Amino acid sequence: MPSQKPNRQDGVIIEEDVLLAPFTTFQIGGPARYFARARTVQQVRQALRFAQDQALPFCFLGGGSNLLVSDDGFEGLVVRLVMDAVSVDGATVSVEAGYDLNRLVLDSAQWGLSGLEPLAGIPGTVGGAVRGNAGAYGGAIGDVVHSVSVLDTATLDVITMPREECSFAYRDSLFKGDPWLAVMGTVLTLSPAPPAEIKGRIEQTVAKREAKQLSCDRSAGSFFMNPVVQDAGLIRSFEADQGVRCRECRIPAGWLIERAGVRNLRVGGAAVSHRHANYLVNTGGATAVDMMELAWQVKAGVRVKLGVLLQEEVSTLGLTR
Ligand SMILES: Cc1cc2nc3c(=O)[nH]c(=O)nc-3n(C[C@H](O)[C@H](O)[C@H](O)COP(=O)(O)OP(=O)(O)OC[C@H]3O[C@@H](n4cnc5c(N)ncnc54)[C@H](O)[C@@H]3O)c2cc1C
Repeated sequence: MPSQKPNRQDGVIIEEDVLLAPFTTFQIGGPARYFARARTVQQVRQALRFAQDQALPFCFLGGGSNLLVSDDGFEGLVVRLVMDAVSVDGATVSVEAGYDLNRLVLDSAQWGLSGLEPLAGIPGTVGGAVRGNAGAYGGAIGDVVHSVSVLDTATLDVITMPREECSFAYRDSLFKGDPWLAVMGTVLTLSPAPPAEIKGRIEQTVAKREAKQLSCDRSAGSFFMNPVVQDAGLIRSFEADQGVRCRECRIPAGWLIERAGVRNLRVGGAAVSHRHANYLVNTGGATAVDMMELAWQVKAGVRVKLGVLLQEEVSTLGLTR
């Protein structure tokens, strides 16, 4: 039950025992002991001071579209980042971490600024996207980042990091590997282009995603990253089967899951999606334990049958892998 008397910490409201499942696209997860919605960077600091004063662990939440939360919840403070100011100056867009990524993609067409079209249809916030270098169809947000505004959660200082220092790579960044750093916003450098052209490219991206049914309910998108594969025979087999060249020796995890014959697996309410083999879905009533067990079985199947070790793309909270 949510607390009837939320704590107020210098402006930010700290609620107690807030169920996390509704804040995730999996719709899975128990309560956070404390929960704050931060509308400004100052409110993030206030919330973190509350956690520091009580020696509580803390974590950040954006759109919850890449997160599996423990059934037992989190015995600490969850800070949901909802600050969403945006400003445009020529081809430069400054945007706060809580801004909805899809909204930004659509806005960019209106502003006549190109560069975000491959990201159309990816749920979540700008901050979550920068942390995981979200992308699709050969593009990723890191490609257009000029700099990132980062909160050092130890000192509560905000620093600006140029793109070159952010270590963007396939679904990875400096921020993903360092839990002390939180993304507060970013400055993007886009390219002027006619709005109709940008809109057309966004529609093409959305159509490609719809054809692959990439908007599954109660999933977190791709559960596993596409691994780099050393086995030349497997690469040839993939290329022959799909009629495409393998990029940087990365093979889609979904293809490997199909090839390993583990796409019909199910544990409790958790199942491999029948639409997309790399989507693990909550078909109703799945627990985090179901999902973790399913992920383990899928990984084990691919490892045993194909000798490839899959790595999770989805982040977890309150769970050990
Ligand atoms: C149907 C579907 C399709 C998807 N398709 C794609 C796709 O095509 N490509 C792709 O890359 N992803 C895809 N995803 C995954 C997801 O949308 C992205 O990873 C997204 O960028 C996550 O952002 P979020 O705000 O929801 O992060 P959350 O799920 O809220 O958080 C994920 C992790 O990031 C941390 N975090 C969140 N915000 C911050 C911040 N500001 N600073 C520091 N840490 C933070 C959280 O603590 C957590 O550990 C898909 C998901 C779904 C449900």
